[in-house]
Amino acid sequence: MKKSTMVYAVAALALVSTSAMAQEIGTWSGFRKGAASFTFDDGAPSHINDVGPMFEKYGYRATFNLVVNWGPDWNGFQKLADNGHDIASHSNSHPQNMSGEESGSKQQIESKIKQEYGCIIVAYPNCNVPNSSAVLQNYIAGRICNGSWQGGSDMMGKDGPSDWAKVPAIMTGSEGSLKSTNDFTNQMQQASQKGGWVQFLTHGLSGKSNGSATYSPTDPNAIEGALQWANQHDGDIWVAPMRDVVMYIKERNASKITAGASSANSMTFTLTHNIADNVSKYNYPLSIRVKSDWSKVSATQQNKPIEATIKDGYIQFDAIPNGGDIVLTNGQGGGESPASSSAEPASSSSEAPASSSQGGWNPWNPGGNSSSGTTGLAQDLRLNTNVVADFGVFSLTGALVETFDALPENATKQFKALKIPQGVYYLKDFKANRIQKVIK
Ligand SMILES: [Zn+2]
Repeated sequence: MKKSTMVYAVAALALVSTSAMAQEIGTWSGFRKGAASFTFDDGAPSHINDVGPMFEKYGYRATFNLVVNWGPDWNGFQKLADNGHDIASHSNSHPQNMSGEESGSKQQIESKIKQEYGCIIVAYPNCNVPNSSAVLQNYIAGRICNGSWQGGSDMMGKDGPSDWAKVPAIMTGSEGSLKSTNDFTNQMQQASQKGGWVQFLTHGLSGKSNGSATYSPTDPNAIEGALQWANQHDGDIWVAPMRDVVMYIKERNASKITAGASSANSMTFTLTHNIADNVSKYNYPLSIRVKSDWSKVSATQQNKPIEATIKDGYIQFDAIPNGGDIVLTNGQGGGESPASSSAEPASSSSEAPASSSQGGWNPWNPGGNSSSGTTGLAQDLRLNTNVVADFGVFSLTGALVETFDALPENATKQFKALKIPQGVYYLKDFKANRIQKVIK
């Protein structure tokens, strides 16, 4: 009798601690229902001229698989990399089977293209899997073609393929099974219904300049329609490069979110994993949510502000694994708001907008004059992918509305694009502790 009472007590305790630690990692970024990746093979001029700008228009990024010896426009693809696209290997010589070119093509591409994670994705020419162990020593994943062509499935579940050297992608275009916008959206709809991941494999675009990518051209309007649909169903489908989705899956399955000290107005968490670091840094942000009845929240990771929102009784934010302590604070913490900073400019209209002495400081109008009427973001800005930020954008009332990082190669001029309405904001450089009024 006494024994069973103890068991009940232990069970009750476990229940209490489970509900107190109600933090979870999203299956997909932003707690979306499914994921879709668009991959483009053979390094076509149309990938630079048409595909990149089309994806950026909707806030999306794609994967471009280059054949080293076919002389791709390295400058053009570097620009895509700068904008956050994934530049990957498609071998040196496009042989029937690329065995022996696994590490060489990676090295060649990394010598030409600078990108945050390096060249960590490969797509096999002619769909033939080369030396799997050489692939996985050099890349986080290798792509085949339609899974169904090799007796598998075209659609993946939440954990990706059973073999990371055989990630499937469905062929599009005149020789493929996906030709119209509906063909694409049906697949994305299935991915979100099943909580899974679908990839598309495209070569050139019909009616565009494709260089060596002559095989199976795809109607660009079909792809643009698919992106429009995804944009309208942004809560359901996460459109991201193959690289990003692979990192997310591997990190999610290896990560633990652990609650630390908490009080009525503060919660601390650590997000850790132990993925080996030989191929990638694996510091892609994971989406986390924590049950809470707070109505306002501010958040930091390693003392840098990160975006946090409250939705349906959860605090939701993105954090980087092994990126330092995450602290959630009830209310809009004053520590990072411009109002508490000595560098705060006068809140009156006498404050000059981005001045000529700081040309390029205004991210909405890099290098230009903010009174010129330019309100759109420059094409060379890219979406925020890292949430531990170098910069914060505050509303005129001091609320943190966006955070973002400068690009390393031109940190004073290029900024990632932000999805906030036009208006007047304060931009704070957290490292330099500098604040500037900016007009979007
Ligand atoms: Zn190819």
